[in-house]
Amino acid sequence: MIEVKQLSKRYGATVAVDGLSFTVEPGRVTGFLGPNGAGKSTTMRAMVGLDRPTSGEVLIDGKRYDQLAHPLRQVGALLDARSLNGGRTVRGHLQGLALSNRIPAARVHEVLDIVGLAGVAGKRAKGLSLGMSQRLGVAAALLGDPQVLLLDEPVNGLDPEGILWIRGLMKRLAADGRTVFVSSHLMSEMALTADHLIVIGQGRLLADSSVSEFIDRN
Ligand code: ADP
Ligand code: ADP
Repeated sequence: MIEVKQLSKRYGATVAVDGLSFTVEPGRVTGFLGPNGAGKSTTMRAMVGLDRPTSGEVLIDGKRYDQLAHPLRQVGALLDARSLNGGRTVRGHLQGLALSNRIPAARVHEVLDIVGLAGVAGKRAKGLSLGMSQRLGVAAALLGDPQVLLLDEPVNGLDPEGILWIRGLMKRLAADGRTVFVSSHLMSEMALTADHLIVIGQGRLLADSSVSEFIDRN
């Protein structure tokens, strides 16, 4: 479970997130909906400690990200700002992550199969198409077999087959009892993917309800 508590983040004069509070429950896909600039990425970066909140906090299973014993085994994240390490191969990138997070090397092969990248494991990660690098990002997020998954606009840059694949994957992960939190600026995407919705605008909470209730009310 993820608890966002009175989260605020300011960048100079810009208030990106403004006193946001909500919880994300396990066992379902929770969509995080809002227009561009609403504060979704900022909130998700705060969840994995990439951004220090101006005030408030985010707890994952009761702890702040920097207090988790095995962060990558507890939370997997696909975020915009992911940077790929220079000349590494696809496999090498995942092996580096596994090593620094005490994840068994055999898991690298499992996740390459899950995301359909086994055939390009020896290619340079930097040379991948956008769709393939999204899959590599998903592989990194799944590497530690975490119970909590954060995906920031995961369908961006994916081809139609990739979009269907990621939707199915998120549903399977949620059906498995995991916490799946996925952002999008498109209601149409959320209607196809999410069970529950957190809607924000200008850094503030606008709705916290099931997708069907949200559609009925709007
Ligand atoms: P979303 O993910 O919903 O598109 P963001 O969290 O990326 O929204 O951005 C929220 C607001 O914060 C926007 O006004 C954006 O311009 C601003 N912002 C985000 N990151 C930074 C940053 N590193 N420096 C300055 N302003 C930022
Ligand atoms: P290394 O330098 O050994 O490859 P790092 O710990 O520096 O390992 O991280 C490598 C990559 O993993 C970075 O691009 C980073 O964005 C990404 N990453 C960090 N935290 C997570 C996470 N919780 N889930 C998925 N990927 C992550």
